[in-house]
Amino acid sequence: MITSRVRKSLIWGVILVLLVLLCSLLTYRISYRSGVESLRENGHRQLELHARGVESEIERYIWLPRVLGLHQPTLQLLKDDQPSQRRTDDRFAHLRREVNEYLEGMTSRSGTLALYVLDVSGQVLAASNWRRIDSYVGEDLSTRPYFVEAMNGGQGQFYGLDSLSGEPGYYLSSPLRVGDRIIGVAVVKVRLAQMEQGWRKANSNVVVSDENDVIILATNPAWHLRAMRAISAERRQQLALSLQYHWELLPELSLSERSELAPGLEQWGVGDEKNPLRIHRYLVQSRTLNDTRWTLTLLSPLGEVRAAALTHALLAAALAAFVTLLIIAMNERRKAVATKLAAREALEAANSELERRITERTADLKSSNDRLRAEIQEREQAEQSLRRTQNELIQAGKLAVIGQMSTGIAHELNQPLAALRTLSGNTIKFLQRGQQDIAAANLTTIGELVERMGKITASLRSFARRSEHAGGRARLVAAVDAALFLLHPRLSREPASVEQHIDDVELAIDQTRLEQILVNLLANALDALQGCNGGRIVLAGHCQDGCYRLTVSDNGSGLPEHVLKHLFEPFFTTKPAERGLGLGLTLSASLASAAGGALTAAPSTLGGAEFILTLPLCPEEDATHV
Ligand code: ADP
Repeated sequence: MITSRVRKSLIWGVILVLLVLLCSLLTYRISYRSGVESLRENGHRQLELHARGVESEIERYIWLPRVLGLHQPTLQLLKDDQPSQRRTDDRFAHLRREVNEYLEGMTSRSGTLALYVLDVSGQVLAASNWRRIDSYVGEDLSTRPYFVEAMNGGQGQFYGLDSLSGEPGYYLSSPLRVGDRIIGVAVVKVRLAQMEQGWRKANSNVVVSDENDVIILATNPAWHLRAMRAISAERRQQLALSLQYHWELLPELSLSERSELAPGLEQWGVGDEKNPLRIHRYLVQSRTLNDTRWTLTLLSPLGEVRAAALTHALLAAALAAFVTLLIIAMNERRKAVATKLAAREALEAANSELERRITERTADLKSSNDRLRAEIQEREQAEQSLRRTQNELIQAGKLAVIGQMSTGIAHELNQPLAALRTLSGNTIKFLQRGQQDIAAANLTTIGELVERMGKITASLRSFARRSEHAGGRARLVAAVDAALFLLHPRLSREPASVEQHIDDVELAIDQTRLEQILVNLLANALDALQGCNGGRIVLAGHCQDGCYRLTVSDNGSGLPEHVLKHLFEPFFTTKPAERGLGLGLTLSASLASAAGGALTAAPSTLGGAEFILTLPLCPEEDATHV
């Protein structure tokens, strides 16, 4: 992941660098080309200007040799020029002196170097410098090209070094004629070096080369008499013999590079004089000077154009880099905004999805809540009906017990009733006899019997009373007494002893319900003891973990395996139909569990059955209020 990002960045970096380089290269080329073009145009104007300058300078002097054709003494001198009579003839000498003086005067007035006249054999007849020791007079200059050219009827122009002094000069010659016949040649030697100063002042690099491509005028004096092109050895020999350039070696101009861009347009590379490693490049324009075989060359330095192009290229590179970076930054920003928007959209989508789910879940919860509520209602209703049924069952159980006890109770009531009948009859008789003491004693006994009967019926009423609530308080001792009282008829009939080892505790159960449980357990024990001598019923109890554990044991028939298995099932009984319904233990166990307790059974150590009733004790503080 990271490497791919780095690679991507690297590729972008390389593309950026290439783009910047390409941009700067293009700018450099365009700028360089336009710079060269404007340099060329400017150079062309300068070239024209300098060429005209040289041409007009030459034209300034070209008339001088021609003017001599109008000077009669000169013409006369040439006409009289017979080599045999030259030195002897006084008239000739006089004429020559006159011409010499004329030429001398003309030279000083025109500012030229020398003015002289040659005869047709090329010998100097008269010269402006006739007074000087190195005068031209008498010199044979027949080999000089300007002489040859003039003799051929043309205008001679020639650069050369003085054959005597080695001084550079520009020779302009013209034939002197009488009619159509050439009788001699007039030559003016001028100096054009002053032009070089003008070029230097104008800061122009100008070179004038002659027909041999030898530099005769140059802004840079070091370039004087250098060959602009290679000269063959043969030609060099010819030039050496002609003494045109005296004994100069004419070294070739050393150019590090030279390329032709267009006709008359070249590019030169010239090594620096001080630092050969440094190369100055020039745009070189040339033009032939009118009426001459000379060429004027202008060198325009390309350094500035190159520097300007370089500056433009750098600026373009900076601009390209800036624009590219700007585009990248804008792109990055666009990407970041897009990512942010996408994230926001995703968040909004997730939010709406969450809301949708919450709504769905809420609806689900609401429906399941409604369902639960309906179920609770149903359960409550079922519980209520169960409780009702349970109460009905309890009631039925009680009535069943009462039914079972009815024979005993009837017997219990019949006994005092019979006693009452007998006592009341006796009492009447005793009263009639006047035995009031005995009658009073009988009446007391009658009262006791009635009270006893009232007790029996009261306890029966209380036992039969409906108790709707599972909660309440019950005194254990009182409940045991009530149960025993209810069972008294059977206890008095059946020879079974009841032992009690219980505490006077208060239990968290309705009093009647506790009595009902105890009546059931004691009645079952009496049933199990039926027909056996020395029957024992033991009631024992103790407190344990906030509850009271009461055991009702007997030494009766006991609980066989098949009985123990179904003991608490409704309608399970081993007794005949008129004696048992099989509801006693079921009801007792349900009453105990409704009060938060339990009823279990186990074989007793006495030999019979043992029933363990566990019921919660009432809190201590509440017990004090009872
Ligand atoms: P019922 O007394 O009407 O039969 P119960 O639910 O009270 O109904 O008793 C169910 C059965 O449990 C009795 O039929 C009897 O077989 C057995 N049983 C109850 N108590 C004892 C006991 N103390 N000793 C032996 N068997 C007992």
